[in-house]
Amino acid sequence: MILDSVPSPDNRLYPSDRFSFSCHKGLVCFNSCCRDKHLLLTPYDILRLKNALKIHSDDFLSNYTLYDTDPKSGFPVLSLKLGDAPERLCPFVGKNGCRVYAHRPTACRLFPLGRASGLSHDGFKPDEFFFLVNIKGCLGFEAKEELTISRWLEDQEVLPYIEMNDKMLEILFHPKRDRNKPLDEKQLRKVMVACYNLDVFRDFVFNTNFLPLFQIDGETCSKIEKEDEALLNLGLAYLRKALF
Ligand code: SF4
Ligand code: SF4
Repeated sequence: MILDSVPSPDNRLYPSDRFSFSCHKGLVCFNSCCRDKHLLLTPYDILRLKNALKIHSDDFLSNYTLYDTDPKSGFPVLSLKLGDAPERLCPFVGKNGCRVYAHRPTACRLFPLGRASGLSHDGFKPDEFFFLVNIKGCLGFEAKEELTISRWLEDQEVLPYIEMNDKMLEILFHPKRDRNKPLDEKQLRKVMVACYNLDVFRDFVFNTNFLPLFQIDGETCSKIEKEDEALLNLGLAYLRKALF
């Protein structure tokens, strides 16, 4: 989530903090929130969704995403393409809820929480905090039962997403990246292919001299051939080396 302003310290939540929320089919607001949102997609979100839909990453990008670049860093900013106005429905919402529930993106898993993170000054462990995103008409906040932030993150199975998303931070905050200069065209293309267009990246890895050049061992080779998670990790490692 890109924030216009950072939530004040009073509104920041940490893993042991508690909040009240429950979302279920019995609520009259059920399904009403899966529309009219600026829903950012991370590389791992795209990996999961294109595999759930069993489509090529190129097709996913052209059919389901909107593309922009961050004016400061020049990094790509991808978001979910919604249906037409006035409803602007999410393409995955159905009568019975989310049709890609097991593979829903980070922002949907976190909701009603938002997460802010950045690299700490002393190394590569991200500093993070959470905050509540209240949307009009959401009855989930009326729930009586309380739960901790960490319980919510576990229940929503969002931790593997967070782990993968944070690996992008190492690239965004790379010590050699000139903060005053956005990515150039060539760098931008590398980020798009190695992070967001994994099926094209796989072709690039296996059909050029990439493997000997980057000295990829046999075990990693057979892993990246079968597992997109391993391929994305390779893409991120490649960017850390090749970008700056
Ligand atoms: S509006 Fe809130 S409670 Fe209602 S379905 Fe959406 S997230 Fe759940
Ligand atoms: S991906 Fe699923 S949970 Fe997220 S907005 Fe779309 S329908 Fe709702």
